[in-house]
Order: sequence, then C-alpha cells, then structure tokens
Amino acid sequence: MNRHDVLIVGTRCAGASLAMLLARKGYKVLGVDRAQFPSDTVSTHFMWPRTTAALAKWDLLDKLAATGCPAINQVIADYGTIALRGRPSAVDGTAVMYSPRRTVLDNLLVDAAREAGAEIREATTFQDLLWAEGRVVGARLQDASGRPAEESAVVVVGADGMWSPVARAAGAATDVEHPSLTCGYYAYWAGVPTEGVEFYVRHGRDILVFPTHDGLTCIWAGRSHCDWDTYRKDIEGTYREIIGLAPSLAERLRSSRRVSPFKGTSKLPGMGIGDAFLGAQLLAEALARGLPDAARLDSSLAAYQSAFRDTTMPIFEYTLKAASLKDPESAVPIYQRVAQSREETTRFMDVLAGNIGFKDFFNPPIIARLLA
Ligand SMILES: Cc1cc2nc3c(=O)[nH]c(=O)nc-3n(C[C@H](O)[C@H](O)[C@H](O)COP(=O)(O)OP(=O)(O)OC[C@H]3O[C@@H](n4cnc5c(N)ncnc54)[C@H](O)[C@@H]3O)c2cc1C
Repeated sequence: MNRHDVLIVGTRCAGASLAMLLARKGYKVLGVDRAQFPSDTVSTHFMWPRTTAALAKWDLLDKLAATGCPAINQVIADYGTIALRGRPSAVDGTAVMYSPRRTVLDNLLVDAAREAGAEIREATTFQDLLWAEGRVVGARLQDASGRPAEESAVVVVGADGMWSPVARAAGAATDVEHPSLTCGYYAYWAGVPTEGVEFYVRHGRDILVFPTHDGLTCIWAGRSHCDWDTYRKDIEGTYREIIGLAPSLAERLRSSRRVSPFKGTSKLPGMGIGDAFLGAQLLAEALARGLPDAARLDSSLAAYQSAFRDTTMPIFEYTLKAASLKDPESAVPIYQRVAQSREETTRFMDVLAGNIGFKDFFNPPIIARLLA
C-alpha cells in the first residue's frame, strides 16, 4: 500500500482546493472522485467577493477570468415595490463577483491541485475506511473497472458532499442541521440581457439570475419547501409562473431561448462554495499544524472544527432567514431608506454577501436610525 499524508475523497470546491493547498505545502496528497472532470453537478454557482477573494489569494482568479466567465459588478435585489442596486464591499481587495459553470470551476481546481503536485484519481469510488487501533489509517477504493485498491494515509478527509459516505463510514455526528426551506428548478438561457446578478424575493417565491460562461444566464425559480410536490408535477408551468412575478425578467425571457433541461432539488443544505473554500483553507492550516503527530493532530482538528463553525454560523443563520421567504414585504420601508444612500446599500449588500452579520445591520438602533 502507498502511504499518503492525506487522502481526500471528493475533489470539487472543498476537496480539490484542499488537495492544492496541502500539495503546495509539500504534503503527499491523493484526491479521489467518482466523477470524471470536467463534470457538472446540481448547483447554481454564484460567488460573492468572500469566495472570489479566496481564488485571488490562491492565484486562481485570473485563470478563472481567462475562461471567459463574465465579471459581475452589480447586484440587483428586488423586493417587489423596491429594488436595491449596488455591490458589497471588497474582501481583501477583491470586489469582483463571478458565477462560473461548475464544469469550468471544478476542473480549474482539479488542474490546480495536480499542478501543485497532488495525485488526483478520477472515476474512483470510495468504498470504506480502513481502521487500526481505533484510528482511520486509509481507505478502500474502487476504480471504474471495479478493481479494488487500498490506500493508506495519516488522515482521510471526506470532501464528498452533503451525503458524505466518508462521514457515514466514520460514524461522524452531524454538528448543525436544519431542514431545507426552499425547493426549485434552474435552467440555462441564451440571449438574456442582464446588468449583473439579479435576486427577486416575493412571499414564498424567489428568482435568482446569474450571468455565466458562453453568454448564458442561469435562472433559478424557487418556492417554499412545502410546495415541492406541486412544483414537480408541472415544472415548466410553475417555473414560468414564478418568473411572471418579475415582469421585467419575464419580458426579457420572451425573446430568449432555454438551452438546457430544468434541474431541480428540494435538498438545499445552506452552505456554499465560499464555505467549501473556507473549510479547505482552515483545514490545510490545521493539518499543517498537526501532522504527523497524532495527539497534536487531534487538538488542531478540534480547533479547526470550532473555527469553521464560528466563522460560518452567522452566514448560515442569515441564509436560513433569507430562505424562509416569509413576508419579505415587511422590510420594504427599510429597503426604501437604504436605497437612498449608497453607503447603506453597500452595508446591506454586505449582509447578503456574508461580509457582515445579519444582526450588525438589522438591529434596533440601525433600524430606528434608518426609519427616523
Ligand atoms: C441547487 C443548488 C444551488 C446552489 N447554488 C449555489 C450558489 O449559487 N453559490 C454557492 O456558493 N453555492 C451554491 N450551492 C452549494 C454548492 O453546490 C456547494 O456548497 C458545493 O458544491 C460544495 O462543494 P463540495 O466540494 O463540498 O461538495 P460537492 O460539490 O458536492 O462535491 C462532492 C464530490 O464528492 C464526490 N463523491 C461523493 N461520494 C463519493 C464516493 N463514494 N467516492 C468518490 N467520490 C465521491 C462527488 O462525485 C462530488 O464530485 C448550491 C447547491 C445546490 C444544491
């Protein structure tokens, strides 16, 4: 058996980034994924500045721009009677936003991991963990032809998505969980003029518009989770009915062409690509502090878990609030005041972007000042 420092199962946003960061630090890394890249996945793909800033820090943002992904410099947040236009603050000097196809982004990350020296095996499926004296010491894998292989590693990381077979095999407890609040379908459209990313929020409905590669626009139309069965019975009709709540968009779609089938889900766990990047960054630092000593590794991984939870929880809580799609009109008087000031609009966009906490903006003194 080969001995790796770190074996990573799943090589998309979290796993390929981690493989790249660890390989850049000189560790012997094996990443495996049952997918073959370029590979798509069920996900829209909008990245706020905190996410693009990670790519900039890793010297990958210019490479992403070079793939022809359109830069997004404006956010339109439309609440029916009022639409806010602006953009969030830069993070570490990066203000630009992108919505790259996952076929492109994930492939770029896999290439970067290989370039850094990590071994990435595609079409390779994780089967089970290998244990010795109560610790994980590797994994049993299977290649595309069904040939089994055992790989030994000091650490095995499950970056294998929301159904994580690695977490299941390890008997890992779920740290934080919330039932999905929305469901929906998205499709790609050709010939939709846009002025940036567009969000339309209505009671029990939302529409998200993301300009992406090849002149296409990814458009999501969502409903409250309890409507999933109704939606599934008439996907196109429900999708169009939701789009009809944003007349300016519906008008633009009349002269546009849908170029993909609808993809949908009712399983929206509430974490995003930026959280995957953050997890990779924090875990790479924690592993560098802990390897190869087992006792030091345990304490640095425990510190990683707390740091990841503490950093992501405020954004997760805001995501839950936004995803409830409950009574968005009640905040319209606040949005009207926000819209009058570029500074307040930026702060509001900073909440959407996860740059500042929900409670740092929607708190009684600020609301009172805005409404005064
Ligand atoms: C509908 C939808 C819309 C979304 N929109 C956005 C958005 O606009 N912006 C945003 O930031 N985030 C969005 N997200 C969230 C985003 O998709 C996830 O945060 C992101 O994909 C997480 O990346 P990951 O690398 O952790 O996992 P994943 O992307 O799920 O990758 C996991 C990988 O593990 C592999 N794997 C699983 N099991 C095995 C196995 N047994 N053996 C080998 N490999 C295995 C899979 O093949 C896969 O490649 C959305 C999610 C959904 C569902």
